[in-house]
Amino acid sequence: MSLQRRNVDLTGLNTLALPSRAACYVEITTPPQLFAGELKQAPRFVLGDGSNLVLTSDFDGLVVHMAIAGRQLLSEDTDAWYIRAGAGENWHDFVQWTLGQGWPGLENLSLIPGRVGAAPIQNIGAYGLEVGECVHSLNAWDFEKRCFLTVDRKDCRFGYRDSLFKQEGWHLSGRMAIASVLFRLPKRWRPKTRYTDVTQELAAREITSPTPRDIASAIIAIRQRKLPDPAVTPNAGSFFHNPVVDRSIAEKLGSDYPSLPRYPQPDGQVKLAAGWLIEQAGWKGKSLGPVGMFEKQALVLVNHGGGTGADVLRTMAAVRAAVHEKFGVALTPEPIFL
Ligand SMILES: Cc1cc2nc3c(=O)[nH]c(=O)nc-3n(C[C@H](O)[C@H](O)[C@H](O)COP(=O)(O)OP(=O)(O)OC[C@H]3O[C@@H](n4cnc5c(N)ncnc54)[C@H](O)[C@@H]3O)c2cc1C
Repeated sequence: MSLQRRNVDLTGLNTLALPSRAACYVEITTPPQLFAGELKQAPRFVLGDGSNLVLTSDFDGLVVHMAIAGRQLLSEDTDAWYIRAGAGENWHDFVQWTLGQGWPGLENLSLIPGRVGAAPIQNIGAYGLEVGECVHSLNAWDFEKRCFLTVDRKDCRFGYRDSLFKQEGWHLSGRMAIASVLFRLPKRWRPKTRYTDVTQELAAREITSPTPRDIASAIIAIRQRKLPDPAVTPNAGSFFHNPVVDRSIAEKLGSDYPSLPRYPQPDGQVKLAAGWLIEQAGWKGKSLGPVGMFEKQALVLVNHGGGTGADVLRTMAAVRAAVHEKFGVALTPEPIFL
């Protein structure tokens, strides 16, 4: 019996709540379902929770929705725990489960939306931690070669919001479906609390020696205060990357705008805060039709209701133009456009 459905509404399957229909759709709950010959059809798109996605129109292809469940401690040695999770596991629930089991290491990535299988695609990161630091390897189905591959961490080529999967364009071509991820969590744990927000939140709670759960709880509270809940206000998180510019450009901008936050990088370049640039360009809380930038955090693009992919593209272009006109800096969007 075919698992596929036709003409499926994707509005509830992306956190920006953009209307779109997929010509064909299949939900994958077990790895063997990936063998099915019918999944060879192209174009193809592999979907998680749609929390990093802008659906610009209907999709005349096959959406492969990854819903493989399962999480377990695979092994441990004197240095680390090795934990495997299915691609369809909810990321935040998985992180809280590891903490509950007494396996710390992922707490800084609490409350990031999405599924486990998508986490390595853009190497999700927050509050001084990137998931690539904790990935041992992953198991992916290659739709072209028709086999499962194990990809080790070093072959994942993790970078800032980047990985092999994006570098090869597989995040758009749908060539690879990650079925499970194996995490390596070192037993020697040190808190990662160098972010001011986190130290302030812990200080406000009078916590001087935080446990992994304390850090998770602080980060959950910070994120709930700062970011809109997609279930209430549809959004895709940070909409633009923080731009990285040459030092000479950063120095010139810094002398014109002394309060511009600047973060020197190891390679001599300087990272700028995209949210600050957008706010100064007058876009915090401003909308174009139903789509605009969030009033509490200018980096987050929100759909106030009834917005379409075309509305997102229009607002994005207007924000980029305003920032470029004022600062001469080009912003690049973070989500994936389909
Ligand atoms: C409120 C909010 C806050 C956010 N905060 C952060 C943050 O702090 N840090 C951060 O890095 N991101 C953040 N994000 C972005 C988002 O949560 C992550 O990118 C997340 O990993 C996306 O997961 P998903 O399951 O929704 O993937 P989707 O949006 O469905 O897909 C994203 C990409 O991954 C691919 N993909 C998904 N699953 C698989 C799979 N199993 N195999 C192969 N390819 C796959 C898709 O084809 C697509 O290219 C935030 C988003 C929101 C809405």
